[in-house]
Amino acid sequence: MINSKDYYEAGLAFHGHQCPAMPLGLRAGEAAMNALGVGRAKDGELVAILELGERHCATCFADGVQVITGCTFGKGNISKTNQGKWGLTLIDKKSGKAVRVVPKTEAMMVSKQSDFMQKYRSQGVPASEVPEEVVAPLVKNVMEAPESALIAVGPVTAYDLKEAPHSFNGFACEECGEMTVTEYGRIKGDKKVCMACAAKR
Ligand SMILES: [Zn+2]
Ligand SMILES: [Zn+2]
Repeated sequence: MINSKDYYEAGLAFHGHQCPAMPLGLRAGEAAMNALGVGRAKDGELVAILELGERHCATCFADGVQVITGCTFGKGNISKTNQGKWGLTLIDKKSGKAVRVVPKTEAMMVSKQSDFMQKYRSQGVPASEVPEEVVAPLVKNVMEAPESALIAVGPVTAYDLKEAPHSFNGFACEECGEMTVTEYGRIKGDKKVCMACAAKR
């Protein structure tokens, strides 16, 4: 069993400030991993699909998910569908199973209606400048609530993931000389170049 409390310190160090959304990502990842019976991804054996969009509240959720699941931007086993929601679908490639978990609306409303959001974040105060006594109780709520009060866990279903294999091919662009992945190369006249150099006249 994965325990989100084991990942809070690492999550905070990675994320940079205290807020309720990063811990909520830890709890969502924990719920999904325990539903699938999987450990943290060392390689690309888990894939996470987030429904977050851009430039909205609580996108910090994604950092908690990355830290606990090991599905990271660097490994490329996490993506967003840009729907402006907080659902997380976690796929275990080994078993071919997936689960979708989503924070409960009532639980998210507690943070949304708090002073943290109403008096500080929505007024443009960076999360790191919100007083400790305002943010700490929200973090505690998220980290200590029973899972059933916080996260709705959907059914575990079969999932057929179709992915292109990773490319290990690269070349030096014949104009700028920078390393470029072969599949992203372009032909410009008689030269093999990167996309940026291909776009230059
Ligand atoms: Zn945050
Ligand atoms: Zn180039």
